[in-house]
Amino acid sequence: MSIDETASTNDLIARRKRLLGPAYRLFYEQPVQFVRGEGVWLYDPAGNAYLDAYNNVASVGHSHPHVVQAIARQAAVLNTHTRYLHETLLDYAEKLLATFPAGIGQIMFTCTGSEANDLALRVARTCTGGTGFIVTETAYHGVTSALAELSPSLGLPLAKDSHARLVPAPRSAGDDTGEIFARHVRGALDDMKKNGIRPAGLLVDTIFSSDGVFADPAGFLRPAVEAVRAAGGIFIADEVQPGFGRTGEQMWGFARHGLIPDLVTMGKPMGNGHPVAGMAARPEVLAEFGARSRYFNTFGGNPVSAAAGIAVLEVIESEGLLANAQRVGGYLRDQFRQLQARHPLISEVRGAGLFFGVELRHGGPAGTPAASETAAIVNALRERRVLISAAGPQANVLKIRPQLVFSTEHADILIERLDQSLQALDKT
Ligand code: PMP
Repeated sequence: MSIDETASTNDLIARRKRLLGPAYRLFYEQPVQFVRGEGVWLYDPAGNAYLDAYNNVASVGHSHPHVVQAIARQAAVLNTHTRYLHETLLDYAEKLLATFPAGIGQIMFTCTGSEANDLALRVARTCTGGTGFIVTETAYHGVTSALAELSPSLGLPLAKDSHARLVPAPRSAGDDTGEIFARHVRGALDDMKKNGIRPAGLLVDTIFSSDGVFADPAGFLRPAVEAVRAAGGIFIADEVQPGFGRTGEQMWGFARHGLIPDLVTMGKPMGNGHPVAGMAARPEVLAEFGARSRYFNTFGGNPVSAAAGIAVLEVIESEGLLANAQRVGGYLRDQFRQLQARHPLISEVRGAGLFFGVELRHGGPAGTPAASETAAIVNALRERRVLISAAGPQANVLKIRPQLVFSTEHADILIERLDQSLQALDKT
């Protein structure tokens, strides 16, 4: 960076801190400013292109013209709310629900994933009469007070009288992964019973993003979900990260597990950057909630959001992005494995479709977590103009989520620069 660029970055950092306060965090040791995005590329003020292998929001590509035009067209005509009749939202609901298995027949709209999860908690409590929720130990589900309690990755301790129970993420990737996870869930259910807490549900991100990305073996969620249902709770699939084709082949992460959830929450990539989110449901799970309370969300489901949502689904279909995520995801996975053969610091490569967790440990899979090396790689890649981040309880997992339009050529750039960053680390 030139002296001028550094000065302007430092100015922005200081201004941001002064205006936005102390709770915000920036990515990277050298924070980066972007002024434009196109496809898989983000551009800084000097016009340098950064390869985006992280942002799963603009997942059909930054500033995709089809989505931008749909938003602009609708914004130029009308934008109101769901207390007036409007056909576009219903067209969107039909198109979106068609991507779900039979049984999930209704959808309610929100603006953020947090709102969708918060609504799911309320619906779960109403339909089960329970108050206890089970989540994983490093889960993240959102920003509301109710969800902060169910998001241990924020680092807040559980209150003594909390009705939440935490279970370890399913990290073993063996034949018995499902059984081990179910055993933890049964343990949590037993503990609720002992404390007079009625279970409301199991809430999991179906690819366990903040826990460190756990996808295999497909199907491992089933025994845990059966246990929760047998105890009177429901299964809420948080698809905010894995949804909309990220896991390749299928639209939804839960589909890899051969499950039909009771509630499904979604957000992030739904509007390719426009804030639209939602909660899909089995109608029988929603019935009691609807009878008891009314729902209105000022911005959720407005015509512009619906137009954005439809446009995203059209792009996923017309550009064959599920197949692309599967194909390029498979290619990347092979490339990561080849890197693993050359760099023993890579202890495991996990994931599905275009969502990867590349774990770094000293001394192989049972070795010590290489957290500072993970941070060093994330920053070294940023210096090489490739964007990724880190996840997991020990922050030793490279979290890589390229856009669904990633090509094998983009994958080669990512791998080459990751290889260079790992080699540079070997030399230090
Ligand atoms: N669930 C998961 C799994 C998430 O990753 C996130 C956001 N990182 C949320 C829920 C909350 O979504 P939002 O930030 O749109 O409120």
